[in-house]
Amino acid sequence: MSEIERDIDADQQADEATALTDGFHLLIKALKLNDLKTIYGVPGIPITDFGRMAQASGIRVISFRHEQNAGNAAAIAGYLTKKPGICLTVSAPGFLNGLTALAHATTNCWPMILISGSSEREVVDLMQGDYEEMDQLAISKPLCKAAYRILYAQDIGIGLARAIRSAVSGRPGGVYLDIPGALLGQVMNEAEGIRSLVKVIDPAPEQIPAQHAVTRALDVIQGAKKPLIILGKGAAYAQADDLVHEFVETSGIPYLPMSMAKGLLPDTHELSAGPARSLVLKESDVVIMVGARLNWLLSHGKGKQWGAPHSTKFVQIDIEPTEMDSNVEIVAPLVGDIGSVLSSLLDGMGNDWVKPSVDWTNAIKDKKEANIARMAPKLKNNNSPMDYNGALGALKRVVEEHPDAMLVNEGANTLDFARSIIDMYKPRKRLDVGTWGVMGIGMGSAIAAAIETGKPVLCIEGDSAFGFSGMEVETICRYNLPICIVVFNNNGIYRGTDKNESNGGDVATTVFVENARYDMMMTAFGGKGVHAINPDGLYRAVTDAMDSGRPTLVNATIDPAAGKESGNIGSLNPVSVVGKK
Ligand code: ADP
Ligand code: MG
Repeated sequence: MSEIERDIDADQQADEATALTDGFHLLIKALKLNDLKTIYGVPGIPITDFGRMAQASGIRVISFRHEQNAGNAAAIAGYLTKKPGICLTVSAPGFLNGLTALAHATTNCWPMILISGSSEREVVDLMQGDYEEMDQLAISKPLCKAAYRILYAQDIGIGLARAIRSAVSGRPGGVYLDIPGALLGQVMNEAEGIRSLVKVIDPAPEQIPAQHAVTRALDVIQGAKKPLIILGKGAAYAQADDLVHEFVETSGIPYLPMSMAKGLLPDTHELSAGPARSLVLKESDVVIMVGARLNWLLSHGKGKQWGAPHSTKFVQIDIEPTEMDSNVEIVAPLVGDIGSVLSSLLDGMGNDWVKPSVDWTNAIKDKKEANIARMAPKLKNNNSPMDYNGALGALKRVVEEHPDAMLVNEGANTLDFARSIIDMYKPRKRLDVGTWGVMGIGMGSAIAAAIETGKPVLCIEGDSAFGFSGMEVETICRYNLPICIVVFNNNGIYRGTDKNESNGGDVATTVFVENARYDMMMTAFGGKGVHAINPDGLYRAVTDAMDSGRPTLVNATIDPAAGKESGNIGSLNPVSVVGKK
């Protein structure tokens, strides 16, 4: 080394010893190191600069109008990508708004991390009344899978690594990460800071089922006379699409997709039992649950819907051991990830596998064909005002012609009818209200779907459901996202025809402004607004939007008398024994 080289080297070492970094930069580097490159959030104290700096560093930061919608976007990003969706919120109220979405993600078993700024510990713990003071860590704990707080810049790497592992390993879920404002400004030596970062290796390791559990399950399945597969959104999440396909076709067993599992195999597949749902639930003797839970959506696996007193035997594939026997006895639990379990089952099936009898598959086929034939003419009506069948018949054609497009769906009648009428052709295209049946997921889901997939998004919304996140049309226009929202406008919740039963002056509790022009909400921000009054007009407007990619809102006038109370789940409403007063 020459003298000059020695000087430069010494300078560099001195620089390295004195160069500084801070919490802002370390958190950004930690996210990027783990390939977390999109943040959904709402800026404000104490995370505004963090958002700016993240954006400057190349992270995509999508700013929303309300944290719940940002959180719902992060939840769907997690579902679609198998990486935790990141939501960024301000303290207390912003955090609480985001927390609803974090709980939603956890309930749906989707990986998400809610990163929230918070007030300083010493003030919060003495309850001295800080700006937006709240013990956020404590409040989050019962509502998510795990919750952590980082107090020191040198712990950012480990803190984020714990959050990522908690979110995606085993049964995925939501994680809360508490970032007191002072952490972001905390300074430390840069080289040491970089060394403290962690790239998480194999965050969601395979979980291979035990061989004896596989053999037991195959014995039960092979002993069935009327077997049925139920595919849930866990199977869609697992991204083991080819194995799901192969398992259904090799076994020859008819399958029923839960709503977000629609399209895992095309709904037009000959083994789909979708249009014969009631029949197969009632009559099947062995049911193989693949990433689906026996919760309220399946009548908890018992009762009339399941043909009681006839008893059904259940085989269940799930990554979460405690899901087994949660509602009814599981005779053959298969604990493991769906890819590993399905490949073990396929290995064990061998050449002497006996497919279900044609008696069973033909009975399903007959029922399906009859139901499809009964619906077909109803879906072709061009009535004005529209009924659900006419409007959804038009949208069914649009989806058939755009099988790559994403579909978001929420509402009551709008959800129930769309779920059964609109066929899906590819995996993870349908995003809806999920396990809670929650309203308000629409715009968040649509925005994440557009950002994460780059595909056009068709968003079919009840007018009530749309209202929960409708202000995000500005966000959609601001980022110029290829989203077409169709608002099924029937002037109210369930129906638009209720009357106030007292002599009071207010309108009924379920009624909205009559003939509201939702389309003008979109034009207000530079997008395209259309008012559709019949199925043909609806079809044209939505086709144009899907092909142009321009933000569009189609206000679809639906007959206010067409819906029914609470859609398909009216029976969940309590009834007053003394009658309505
Ligand atoms: P659906 O509402 O479609 O019936 P659920 O959300 O109720 O679906 O059930 C999904 C199930 O899938 C959950 O019990 C979850 O633990 C499970 N799951 C999620 N990911 C995987 C995976 N990779 N392998 C196995 N099971 C999974
Ligand atoms: Mg309505």
